[in-house]
This record gives sequence, structure tokens and C-alpha cells, in this order.
Amino acid sequence: MRLTFAALLLGAGLTPVIATASQPNGPWLNEQQHVSLEGFMSNAQLYEQLAGVARRSGGVLSLEQTGTSGEGRPIWLARLGKPDNPAVMIITQQHGNEPHGTEAALDLIRKLASGGSFSEQVLANLQVLFIPRVNPDGTALATRGNVDFSTPQTTASCLRADGSLDPSKLDQGLGANVTAYTTEDGPRQWSYDINRYHWPDWSQSTQVLCNPGLADQAHFNPSQNPVPEALAVRSAYDRYQPMWMVDVHNQNPAVVLDDADPQANRPGRQVTASIAWPTNAEVAQDAVDLSKQMALVMKKRSMQIGHMEISNYYYQRPDGSIRRGGGEPGIARNAYALLASESLAKGAEGPLGGSILMEITGLNSRGQKSIGMLRNNVREMLEALLVASADGSLLTQDPAEADHLLRPGQEVDEPLPNPHDE
Ligand SMILES: [Zn+2]
Repeated sequence: MRLTFAALLLGAGLTPVIATASQPNGPWLNEQQHVSLEGFMSNAQLYEQLAGVARRSGGVLSLEQTGTSGEGRPIWLARLGKPDNPAVMIITQQHGNEPHGTEAALDLIRKLASGGSFSEQVLANLQVLFIPRVNPDGTALATRGNVDFSTPQTTASCLRADGSLDPSKLDQGLGANVTAYTTEDGPRQWSYDINRYHWPDWSQSTQVLCNPGLADQAHFNPSQNPVPEALAVRSAYDRYQPMWMVDVHNQNPAVVLDDADPQANRPGRQVTASIAWPTNAEVAQDAVDLSKQMALVMKKRSMQIGHMEISNYYYQRPDGSIRRGGGEPGIARNAYALLASESLAKGAEGPLGGSILMEITGLNSRGQKSIGMLRNNVREMLEALLVASADGSLLTQDPAEADHLLRPGQEVDEPLPNPHDE
């Protein structure tokens, strides 16, 4: 399959760079796969850890509840640094079955809260915000989506390819971007994929626009986004106006293709993480550039560390079409850059609108050794980003370099067996 795809790409005059294992809407587990979250923190354990660090931090770390999940669980925001410093924000585990980012975030919170030169340098210049588990309900069930099982059961949309509304598809309950959950013996159920519901303006979401006749129903009310976990992130964003955000996920295994540019990646190696910047066409160039600068700092750090291979997560298919989901305004990576773009257009002072998706390879990783390695990889890159933001070197990166070192474009799907099973 790899050769076939590569041949197709070369035949079209394109150069495949990196293989990532994915399915439409991003690499994710299919519903038949059951992820064990054994070895990862439960909701109670995460809270205990955060509260313990806050108690011992002498006021450096404060916790605030930034929202409440559909099942009534608190969604916590961890805040470090002076309130008048520029804010930056890291969110993890929008998808309940993608736990590594939360573990890394907690490591980083501990390190920032415990003093030392790294902490002093960062917190003297920044206010660092974490939402270290956007989706506590999905975590409790080890599932991707939230657990609102009254979600409309379809993934279709009423939009034509050119973005206009198709009247024949209106009012059918379409537009919901959902994820499936199946128990061992129960029926398949559907719930919201939180990372499709960060719409800057909910009344302009496809869910609302596609269903004007259903506006009086809970899921289609133009004045109320039905996904409380997305609203919790939005609430934090609006309060703190961070200059950048990183949204951490997990992806399936992938390898670097044989003909990758050796300056950017080493052929044959496992991809350890993938990065993407905003790809919605309405995002301001300044916001895209800041996001590319963020990506470059993380990529360059990974090249120093040596055992990491970071690729671009976002790609076009060989026929030139964009992978579904890539530019959707409801995806956090796009949504918060769009909000910042509005602020910039109104005269807000930058830097603003940096927004990065980070996909850690290791969806199926189990065992302390691999979990430890993965969380260290994430933490190393986030630390580098914090230092570069604190000392200003972030803004000296040449955004154009990202198009070389993290070339978006002609990647190829290539699911691999779980390396940890071999
Ligand atoms: Zn995810």
C-alpha cells in the first residue's frame, strides 16, 4: 500500500514526505478498539495531584473551575505566574481516550510550581494556563467524545463543496460531528466530538445553519452551543486572551517515508509526534505566522533531542483535496486563531492567535516505560516553547522555515501494527 501510494504521488509530480496513520477527521481509534487507561490518572487522581501541587506551591499555582462537563464533573484550569504577564494556554485530552498530554501537562505544572531556573525564567515573563483534561466524562468511559448520548446521530453536513448551503439537506438534523461509543454488549451510541465545537460564533455553526427549522430544540439552538466542555475552554480563552494555545492529542503509529528530506526527518523512523497550525482560510496571516514560529521551536527542540521525529499532521490528498476536517472553524486549532484574528482586525496588539495542534504517537502505548518516554517528549517540546516565549526568541523564528522543516502537503496514510505489541 505504501509503494502504491508513493507511486501515485510521484506520478502526480508530488513528493511524499511522511506517512501518518489516519482516518477521516484525524487519526483516531475506531470503536472496536478498547483502550486501557490503566496506568493513567483517573479524574480523582488528577484532581488530587493538582490540589497537592497547589497546596505546596505557596500560591504559585492556583486552580479554578473553568466549566462543568455534561455529567457534572469540574473542568479545571491551572494557572501559574503573574496575572499581568502575557498569557499562554495548554489544553489536553479533549478526547477522553488520549491521555498522554495530560500526564505531560502535570509534569510541567509540577516543574513550574516548584521553583528553579526554568520556572523562574518562564514565570517572570509569562502567565501559564493549563486545562489538563478538557473531557473528564470521556476519560471516565475511555472514549473519544463527551458522553451526551442524546447527540444527533449523523456526521453529514448541509454544505456543498463550495461552502454554500444545499437546501435539499436542510432540517434533517445534519451537521453534527459525532463519535461512536460501544460497550461490550450494549448498542452503539453517539456523542459530540468536543474538538469540532469550538465555533467562534455558534449561531454560524453548520449545526445551526443546517437546521433552521429545529432552532427550538436543544441541540440546534442558535444561542447555545450544546457542548459544555468546548464552552469551558472558550470561557478560559475569553478571560485570559492568551497569545497562544497548544492543544495536545494522541495519534496512531506512523513512519517517515524513505524519500523524506533528511534535513527534516530520518527515513524509516517512527514518527513520534505531528504538529499542525491553523488551516482555516479566514485566519489572519499574523496568527498563522505565530503558530508556525511555535511549531518551529518545538520541531527544532525535537531535532536536538535526537530520538524524536516530528512531522506535519495536516495534509492534502494526492488529488489536491484537503483532508476532511482540516479547515473546520469548530476545531480548536482553527477556532481560537479565528477569534484572535477578529481581535487583531479590531486593532488588538499582538502577538496573538498562535494555535497549534500537537499529536503524540502512542495511542495504544501501555506500560510505564513507553508512557514515561512519551510524556517526556511532550514536556520537552512544551518547555522549549515556554522558554522561547519567555525570552522572546519565539518571535525571531522565520515562519517560512516551517514549510521546509514541517512541510504540509503530500503525506500518505499508513496504518502500522502497534509497535508495542511486537
Ligand atoms: Zn484527539
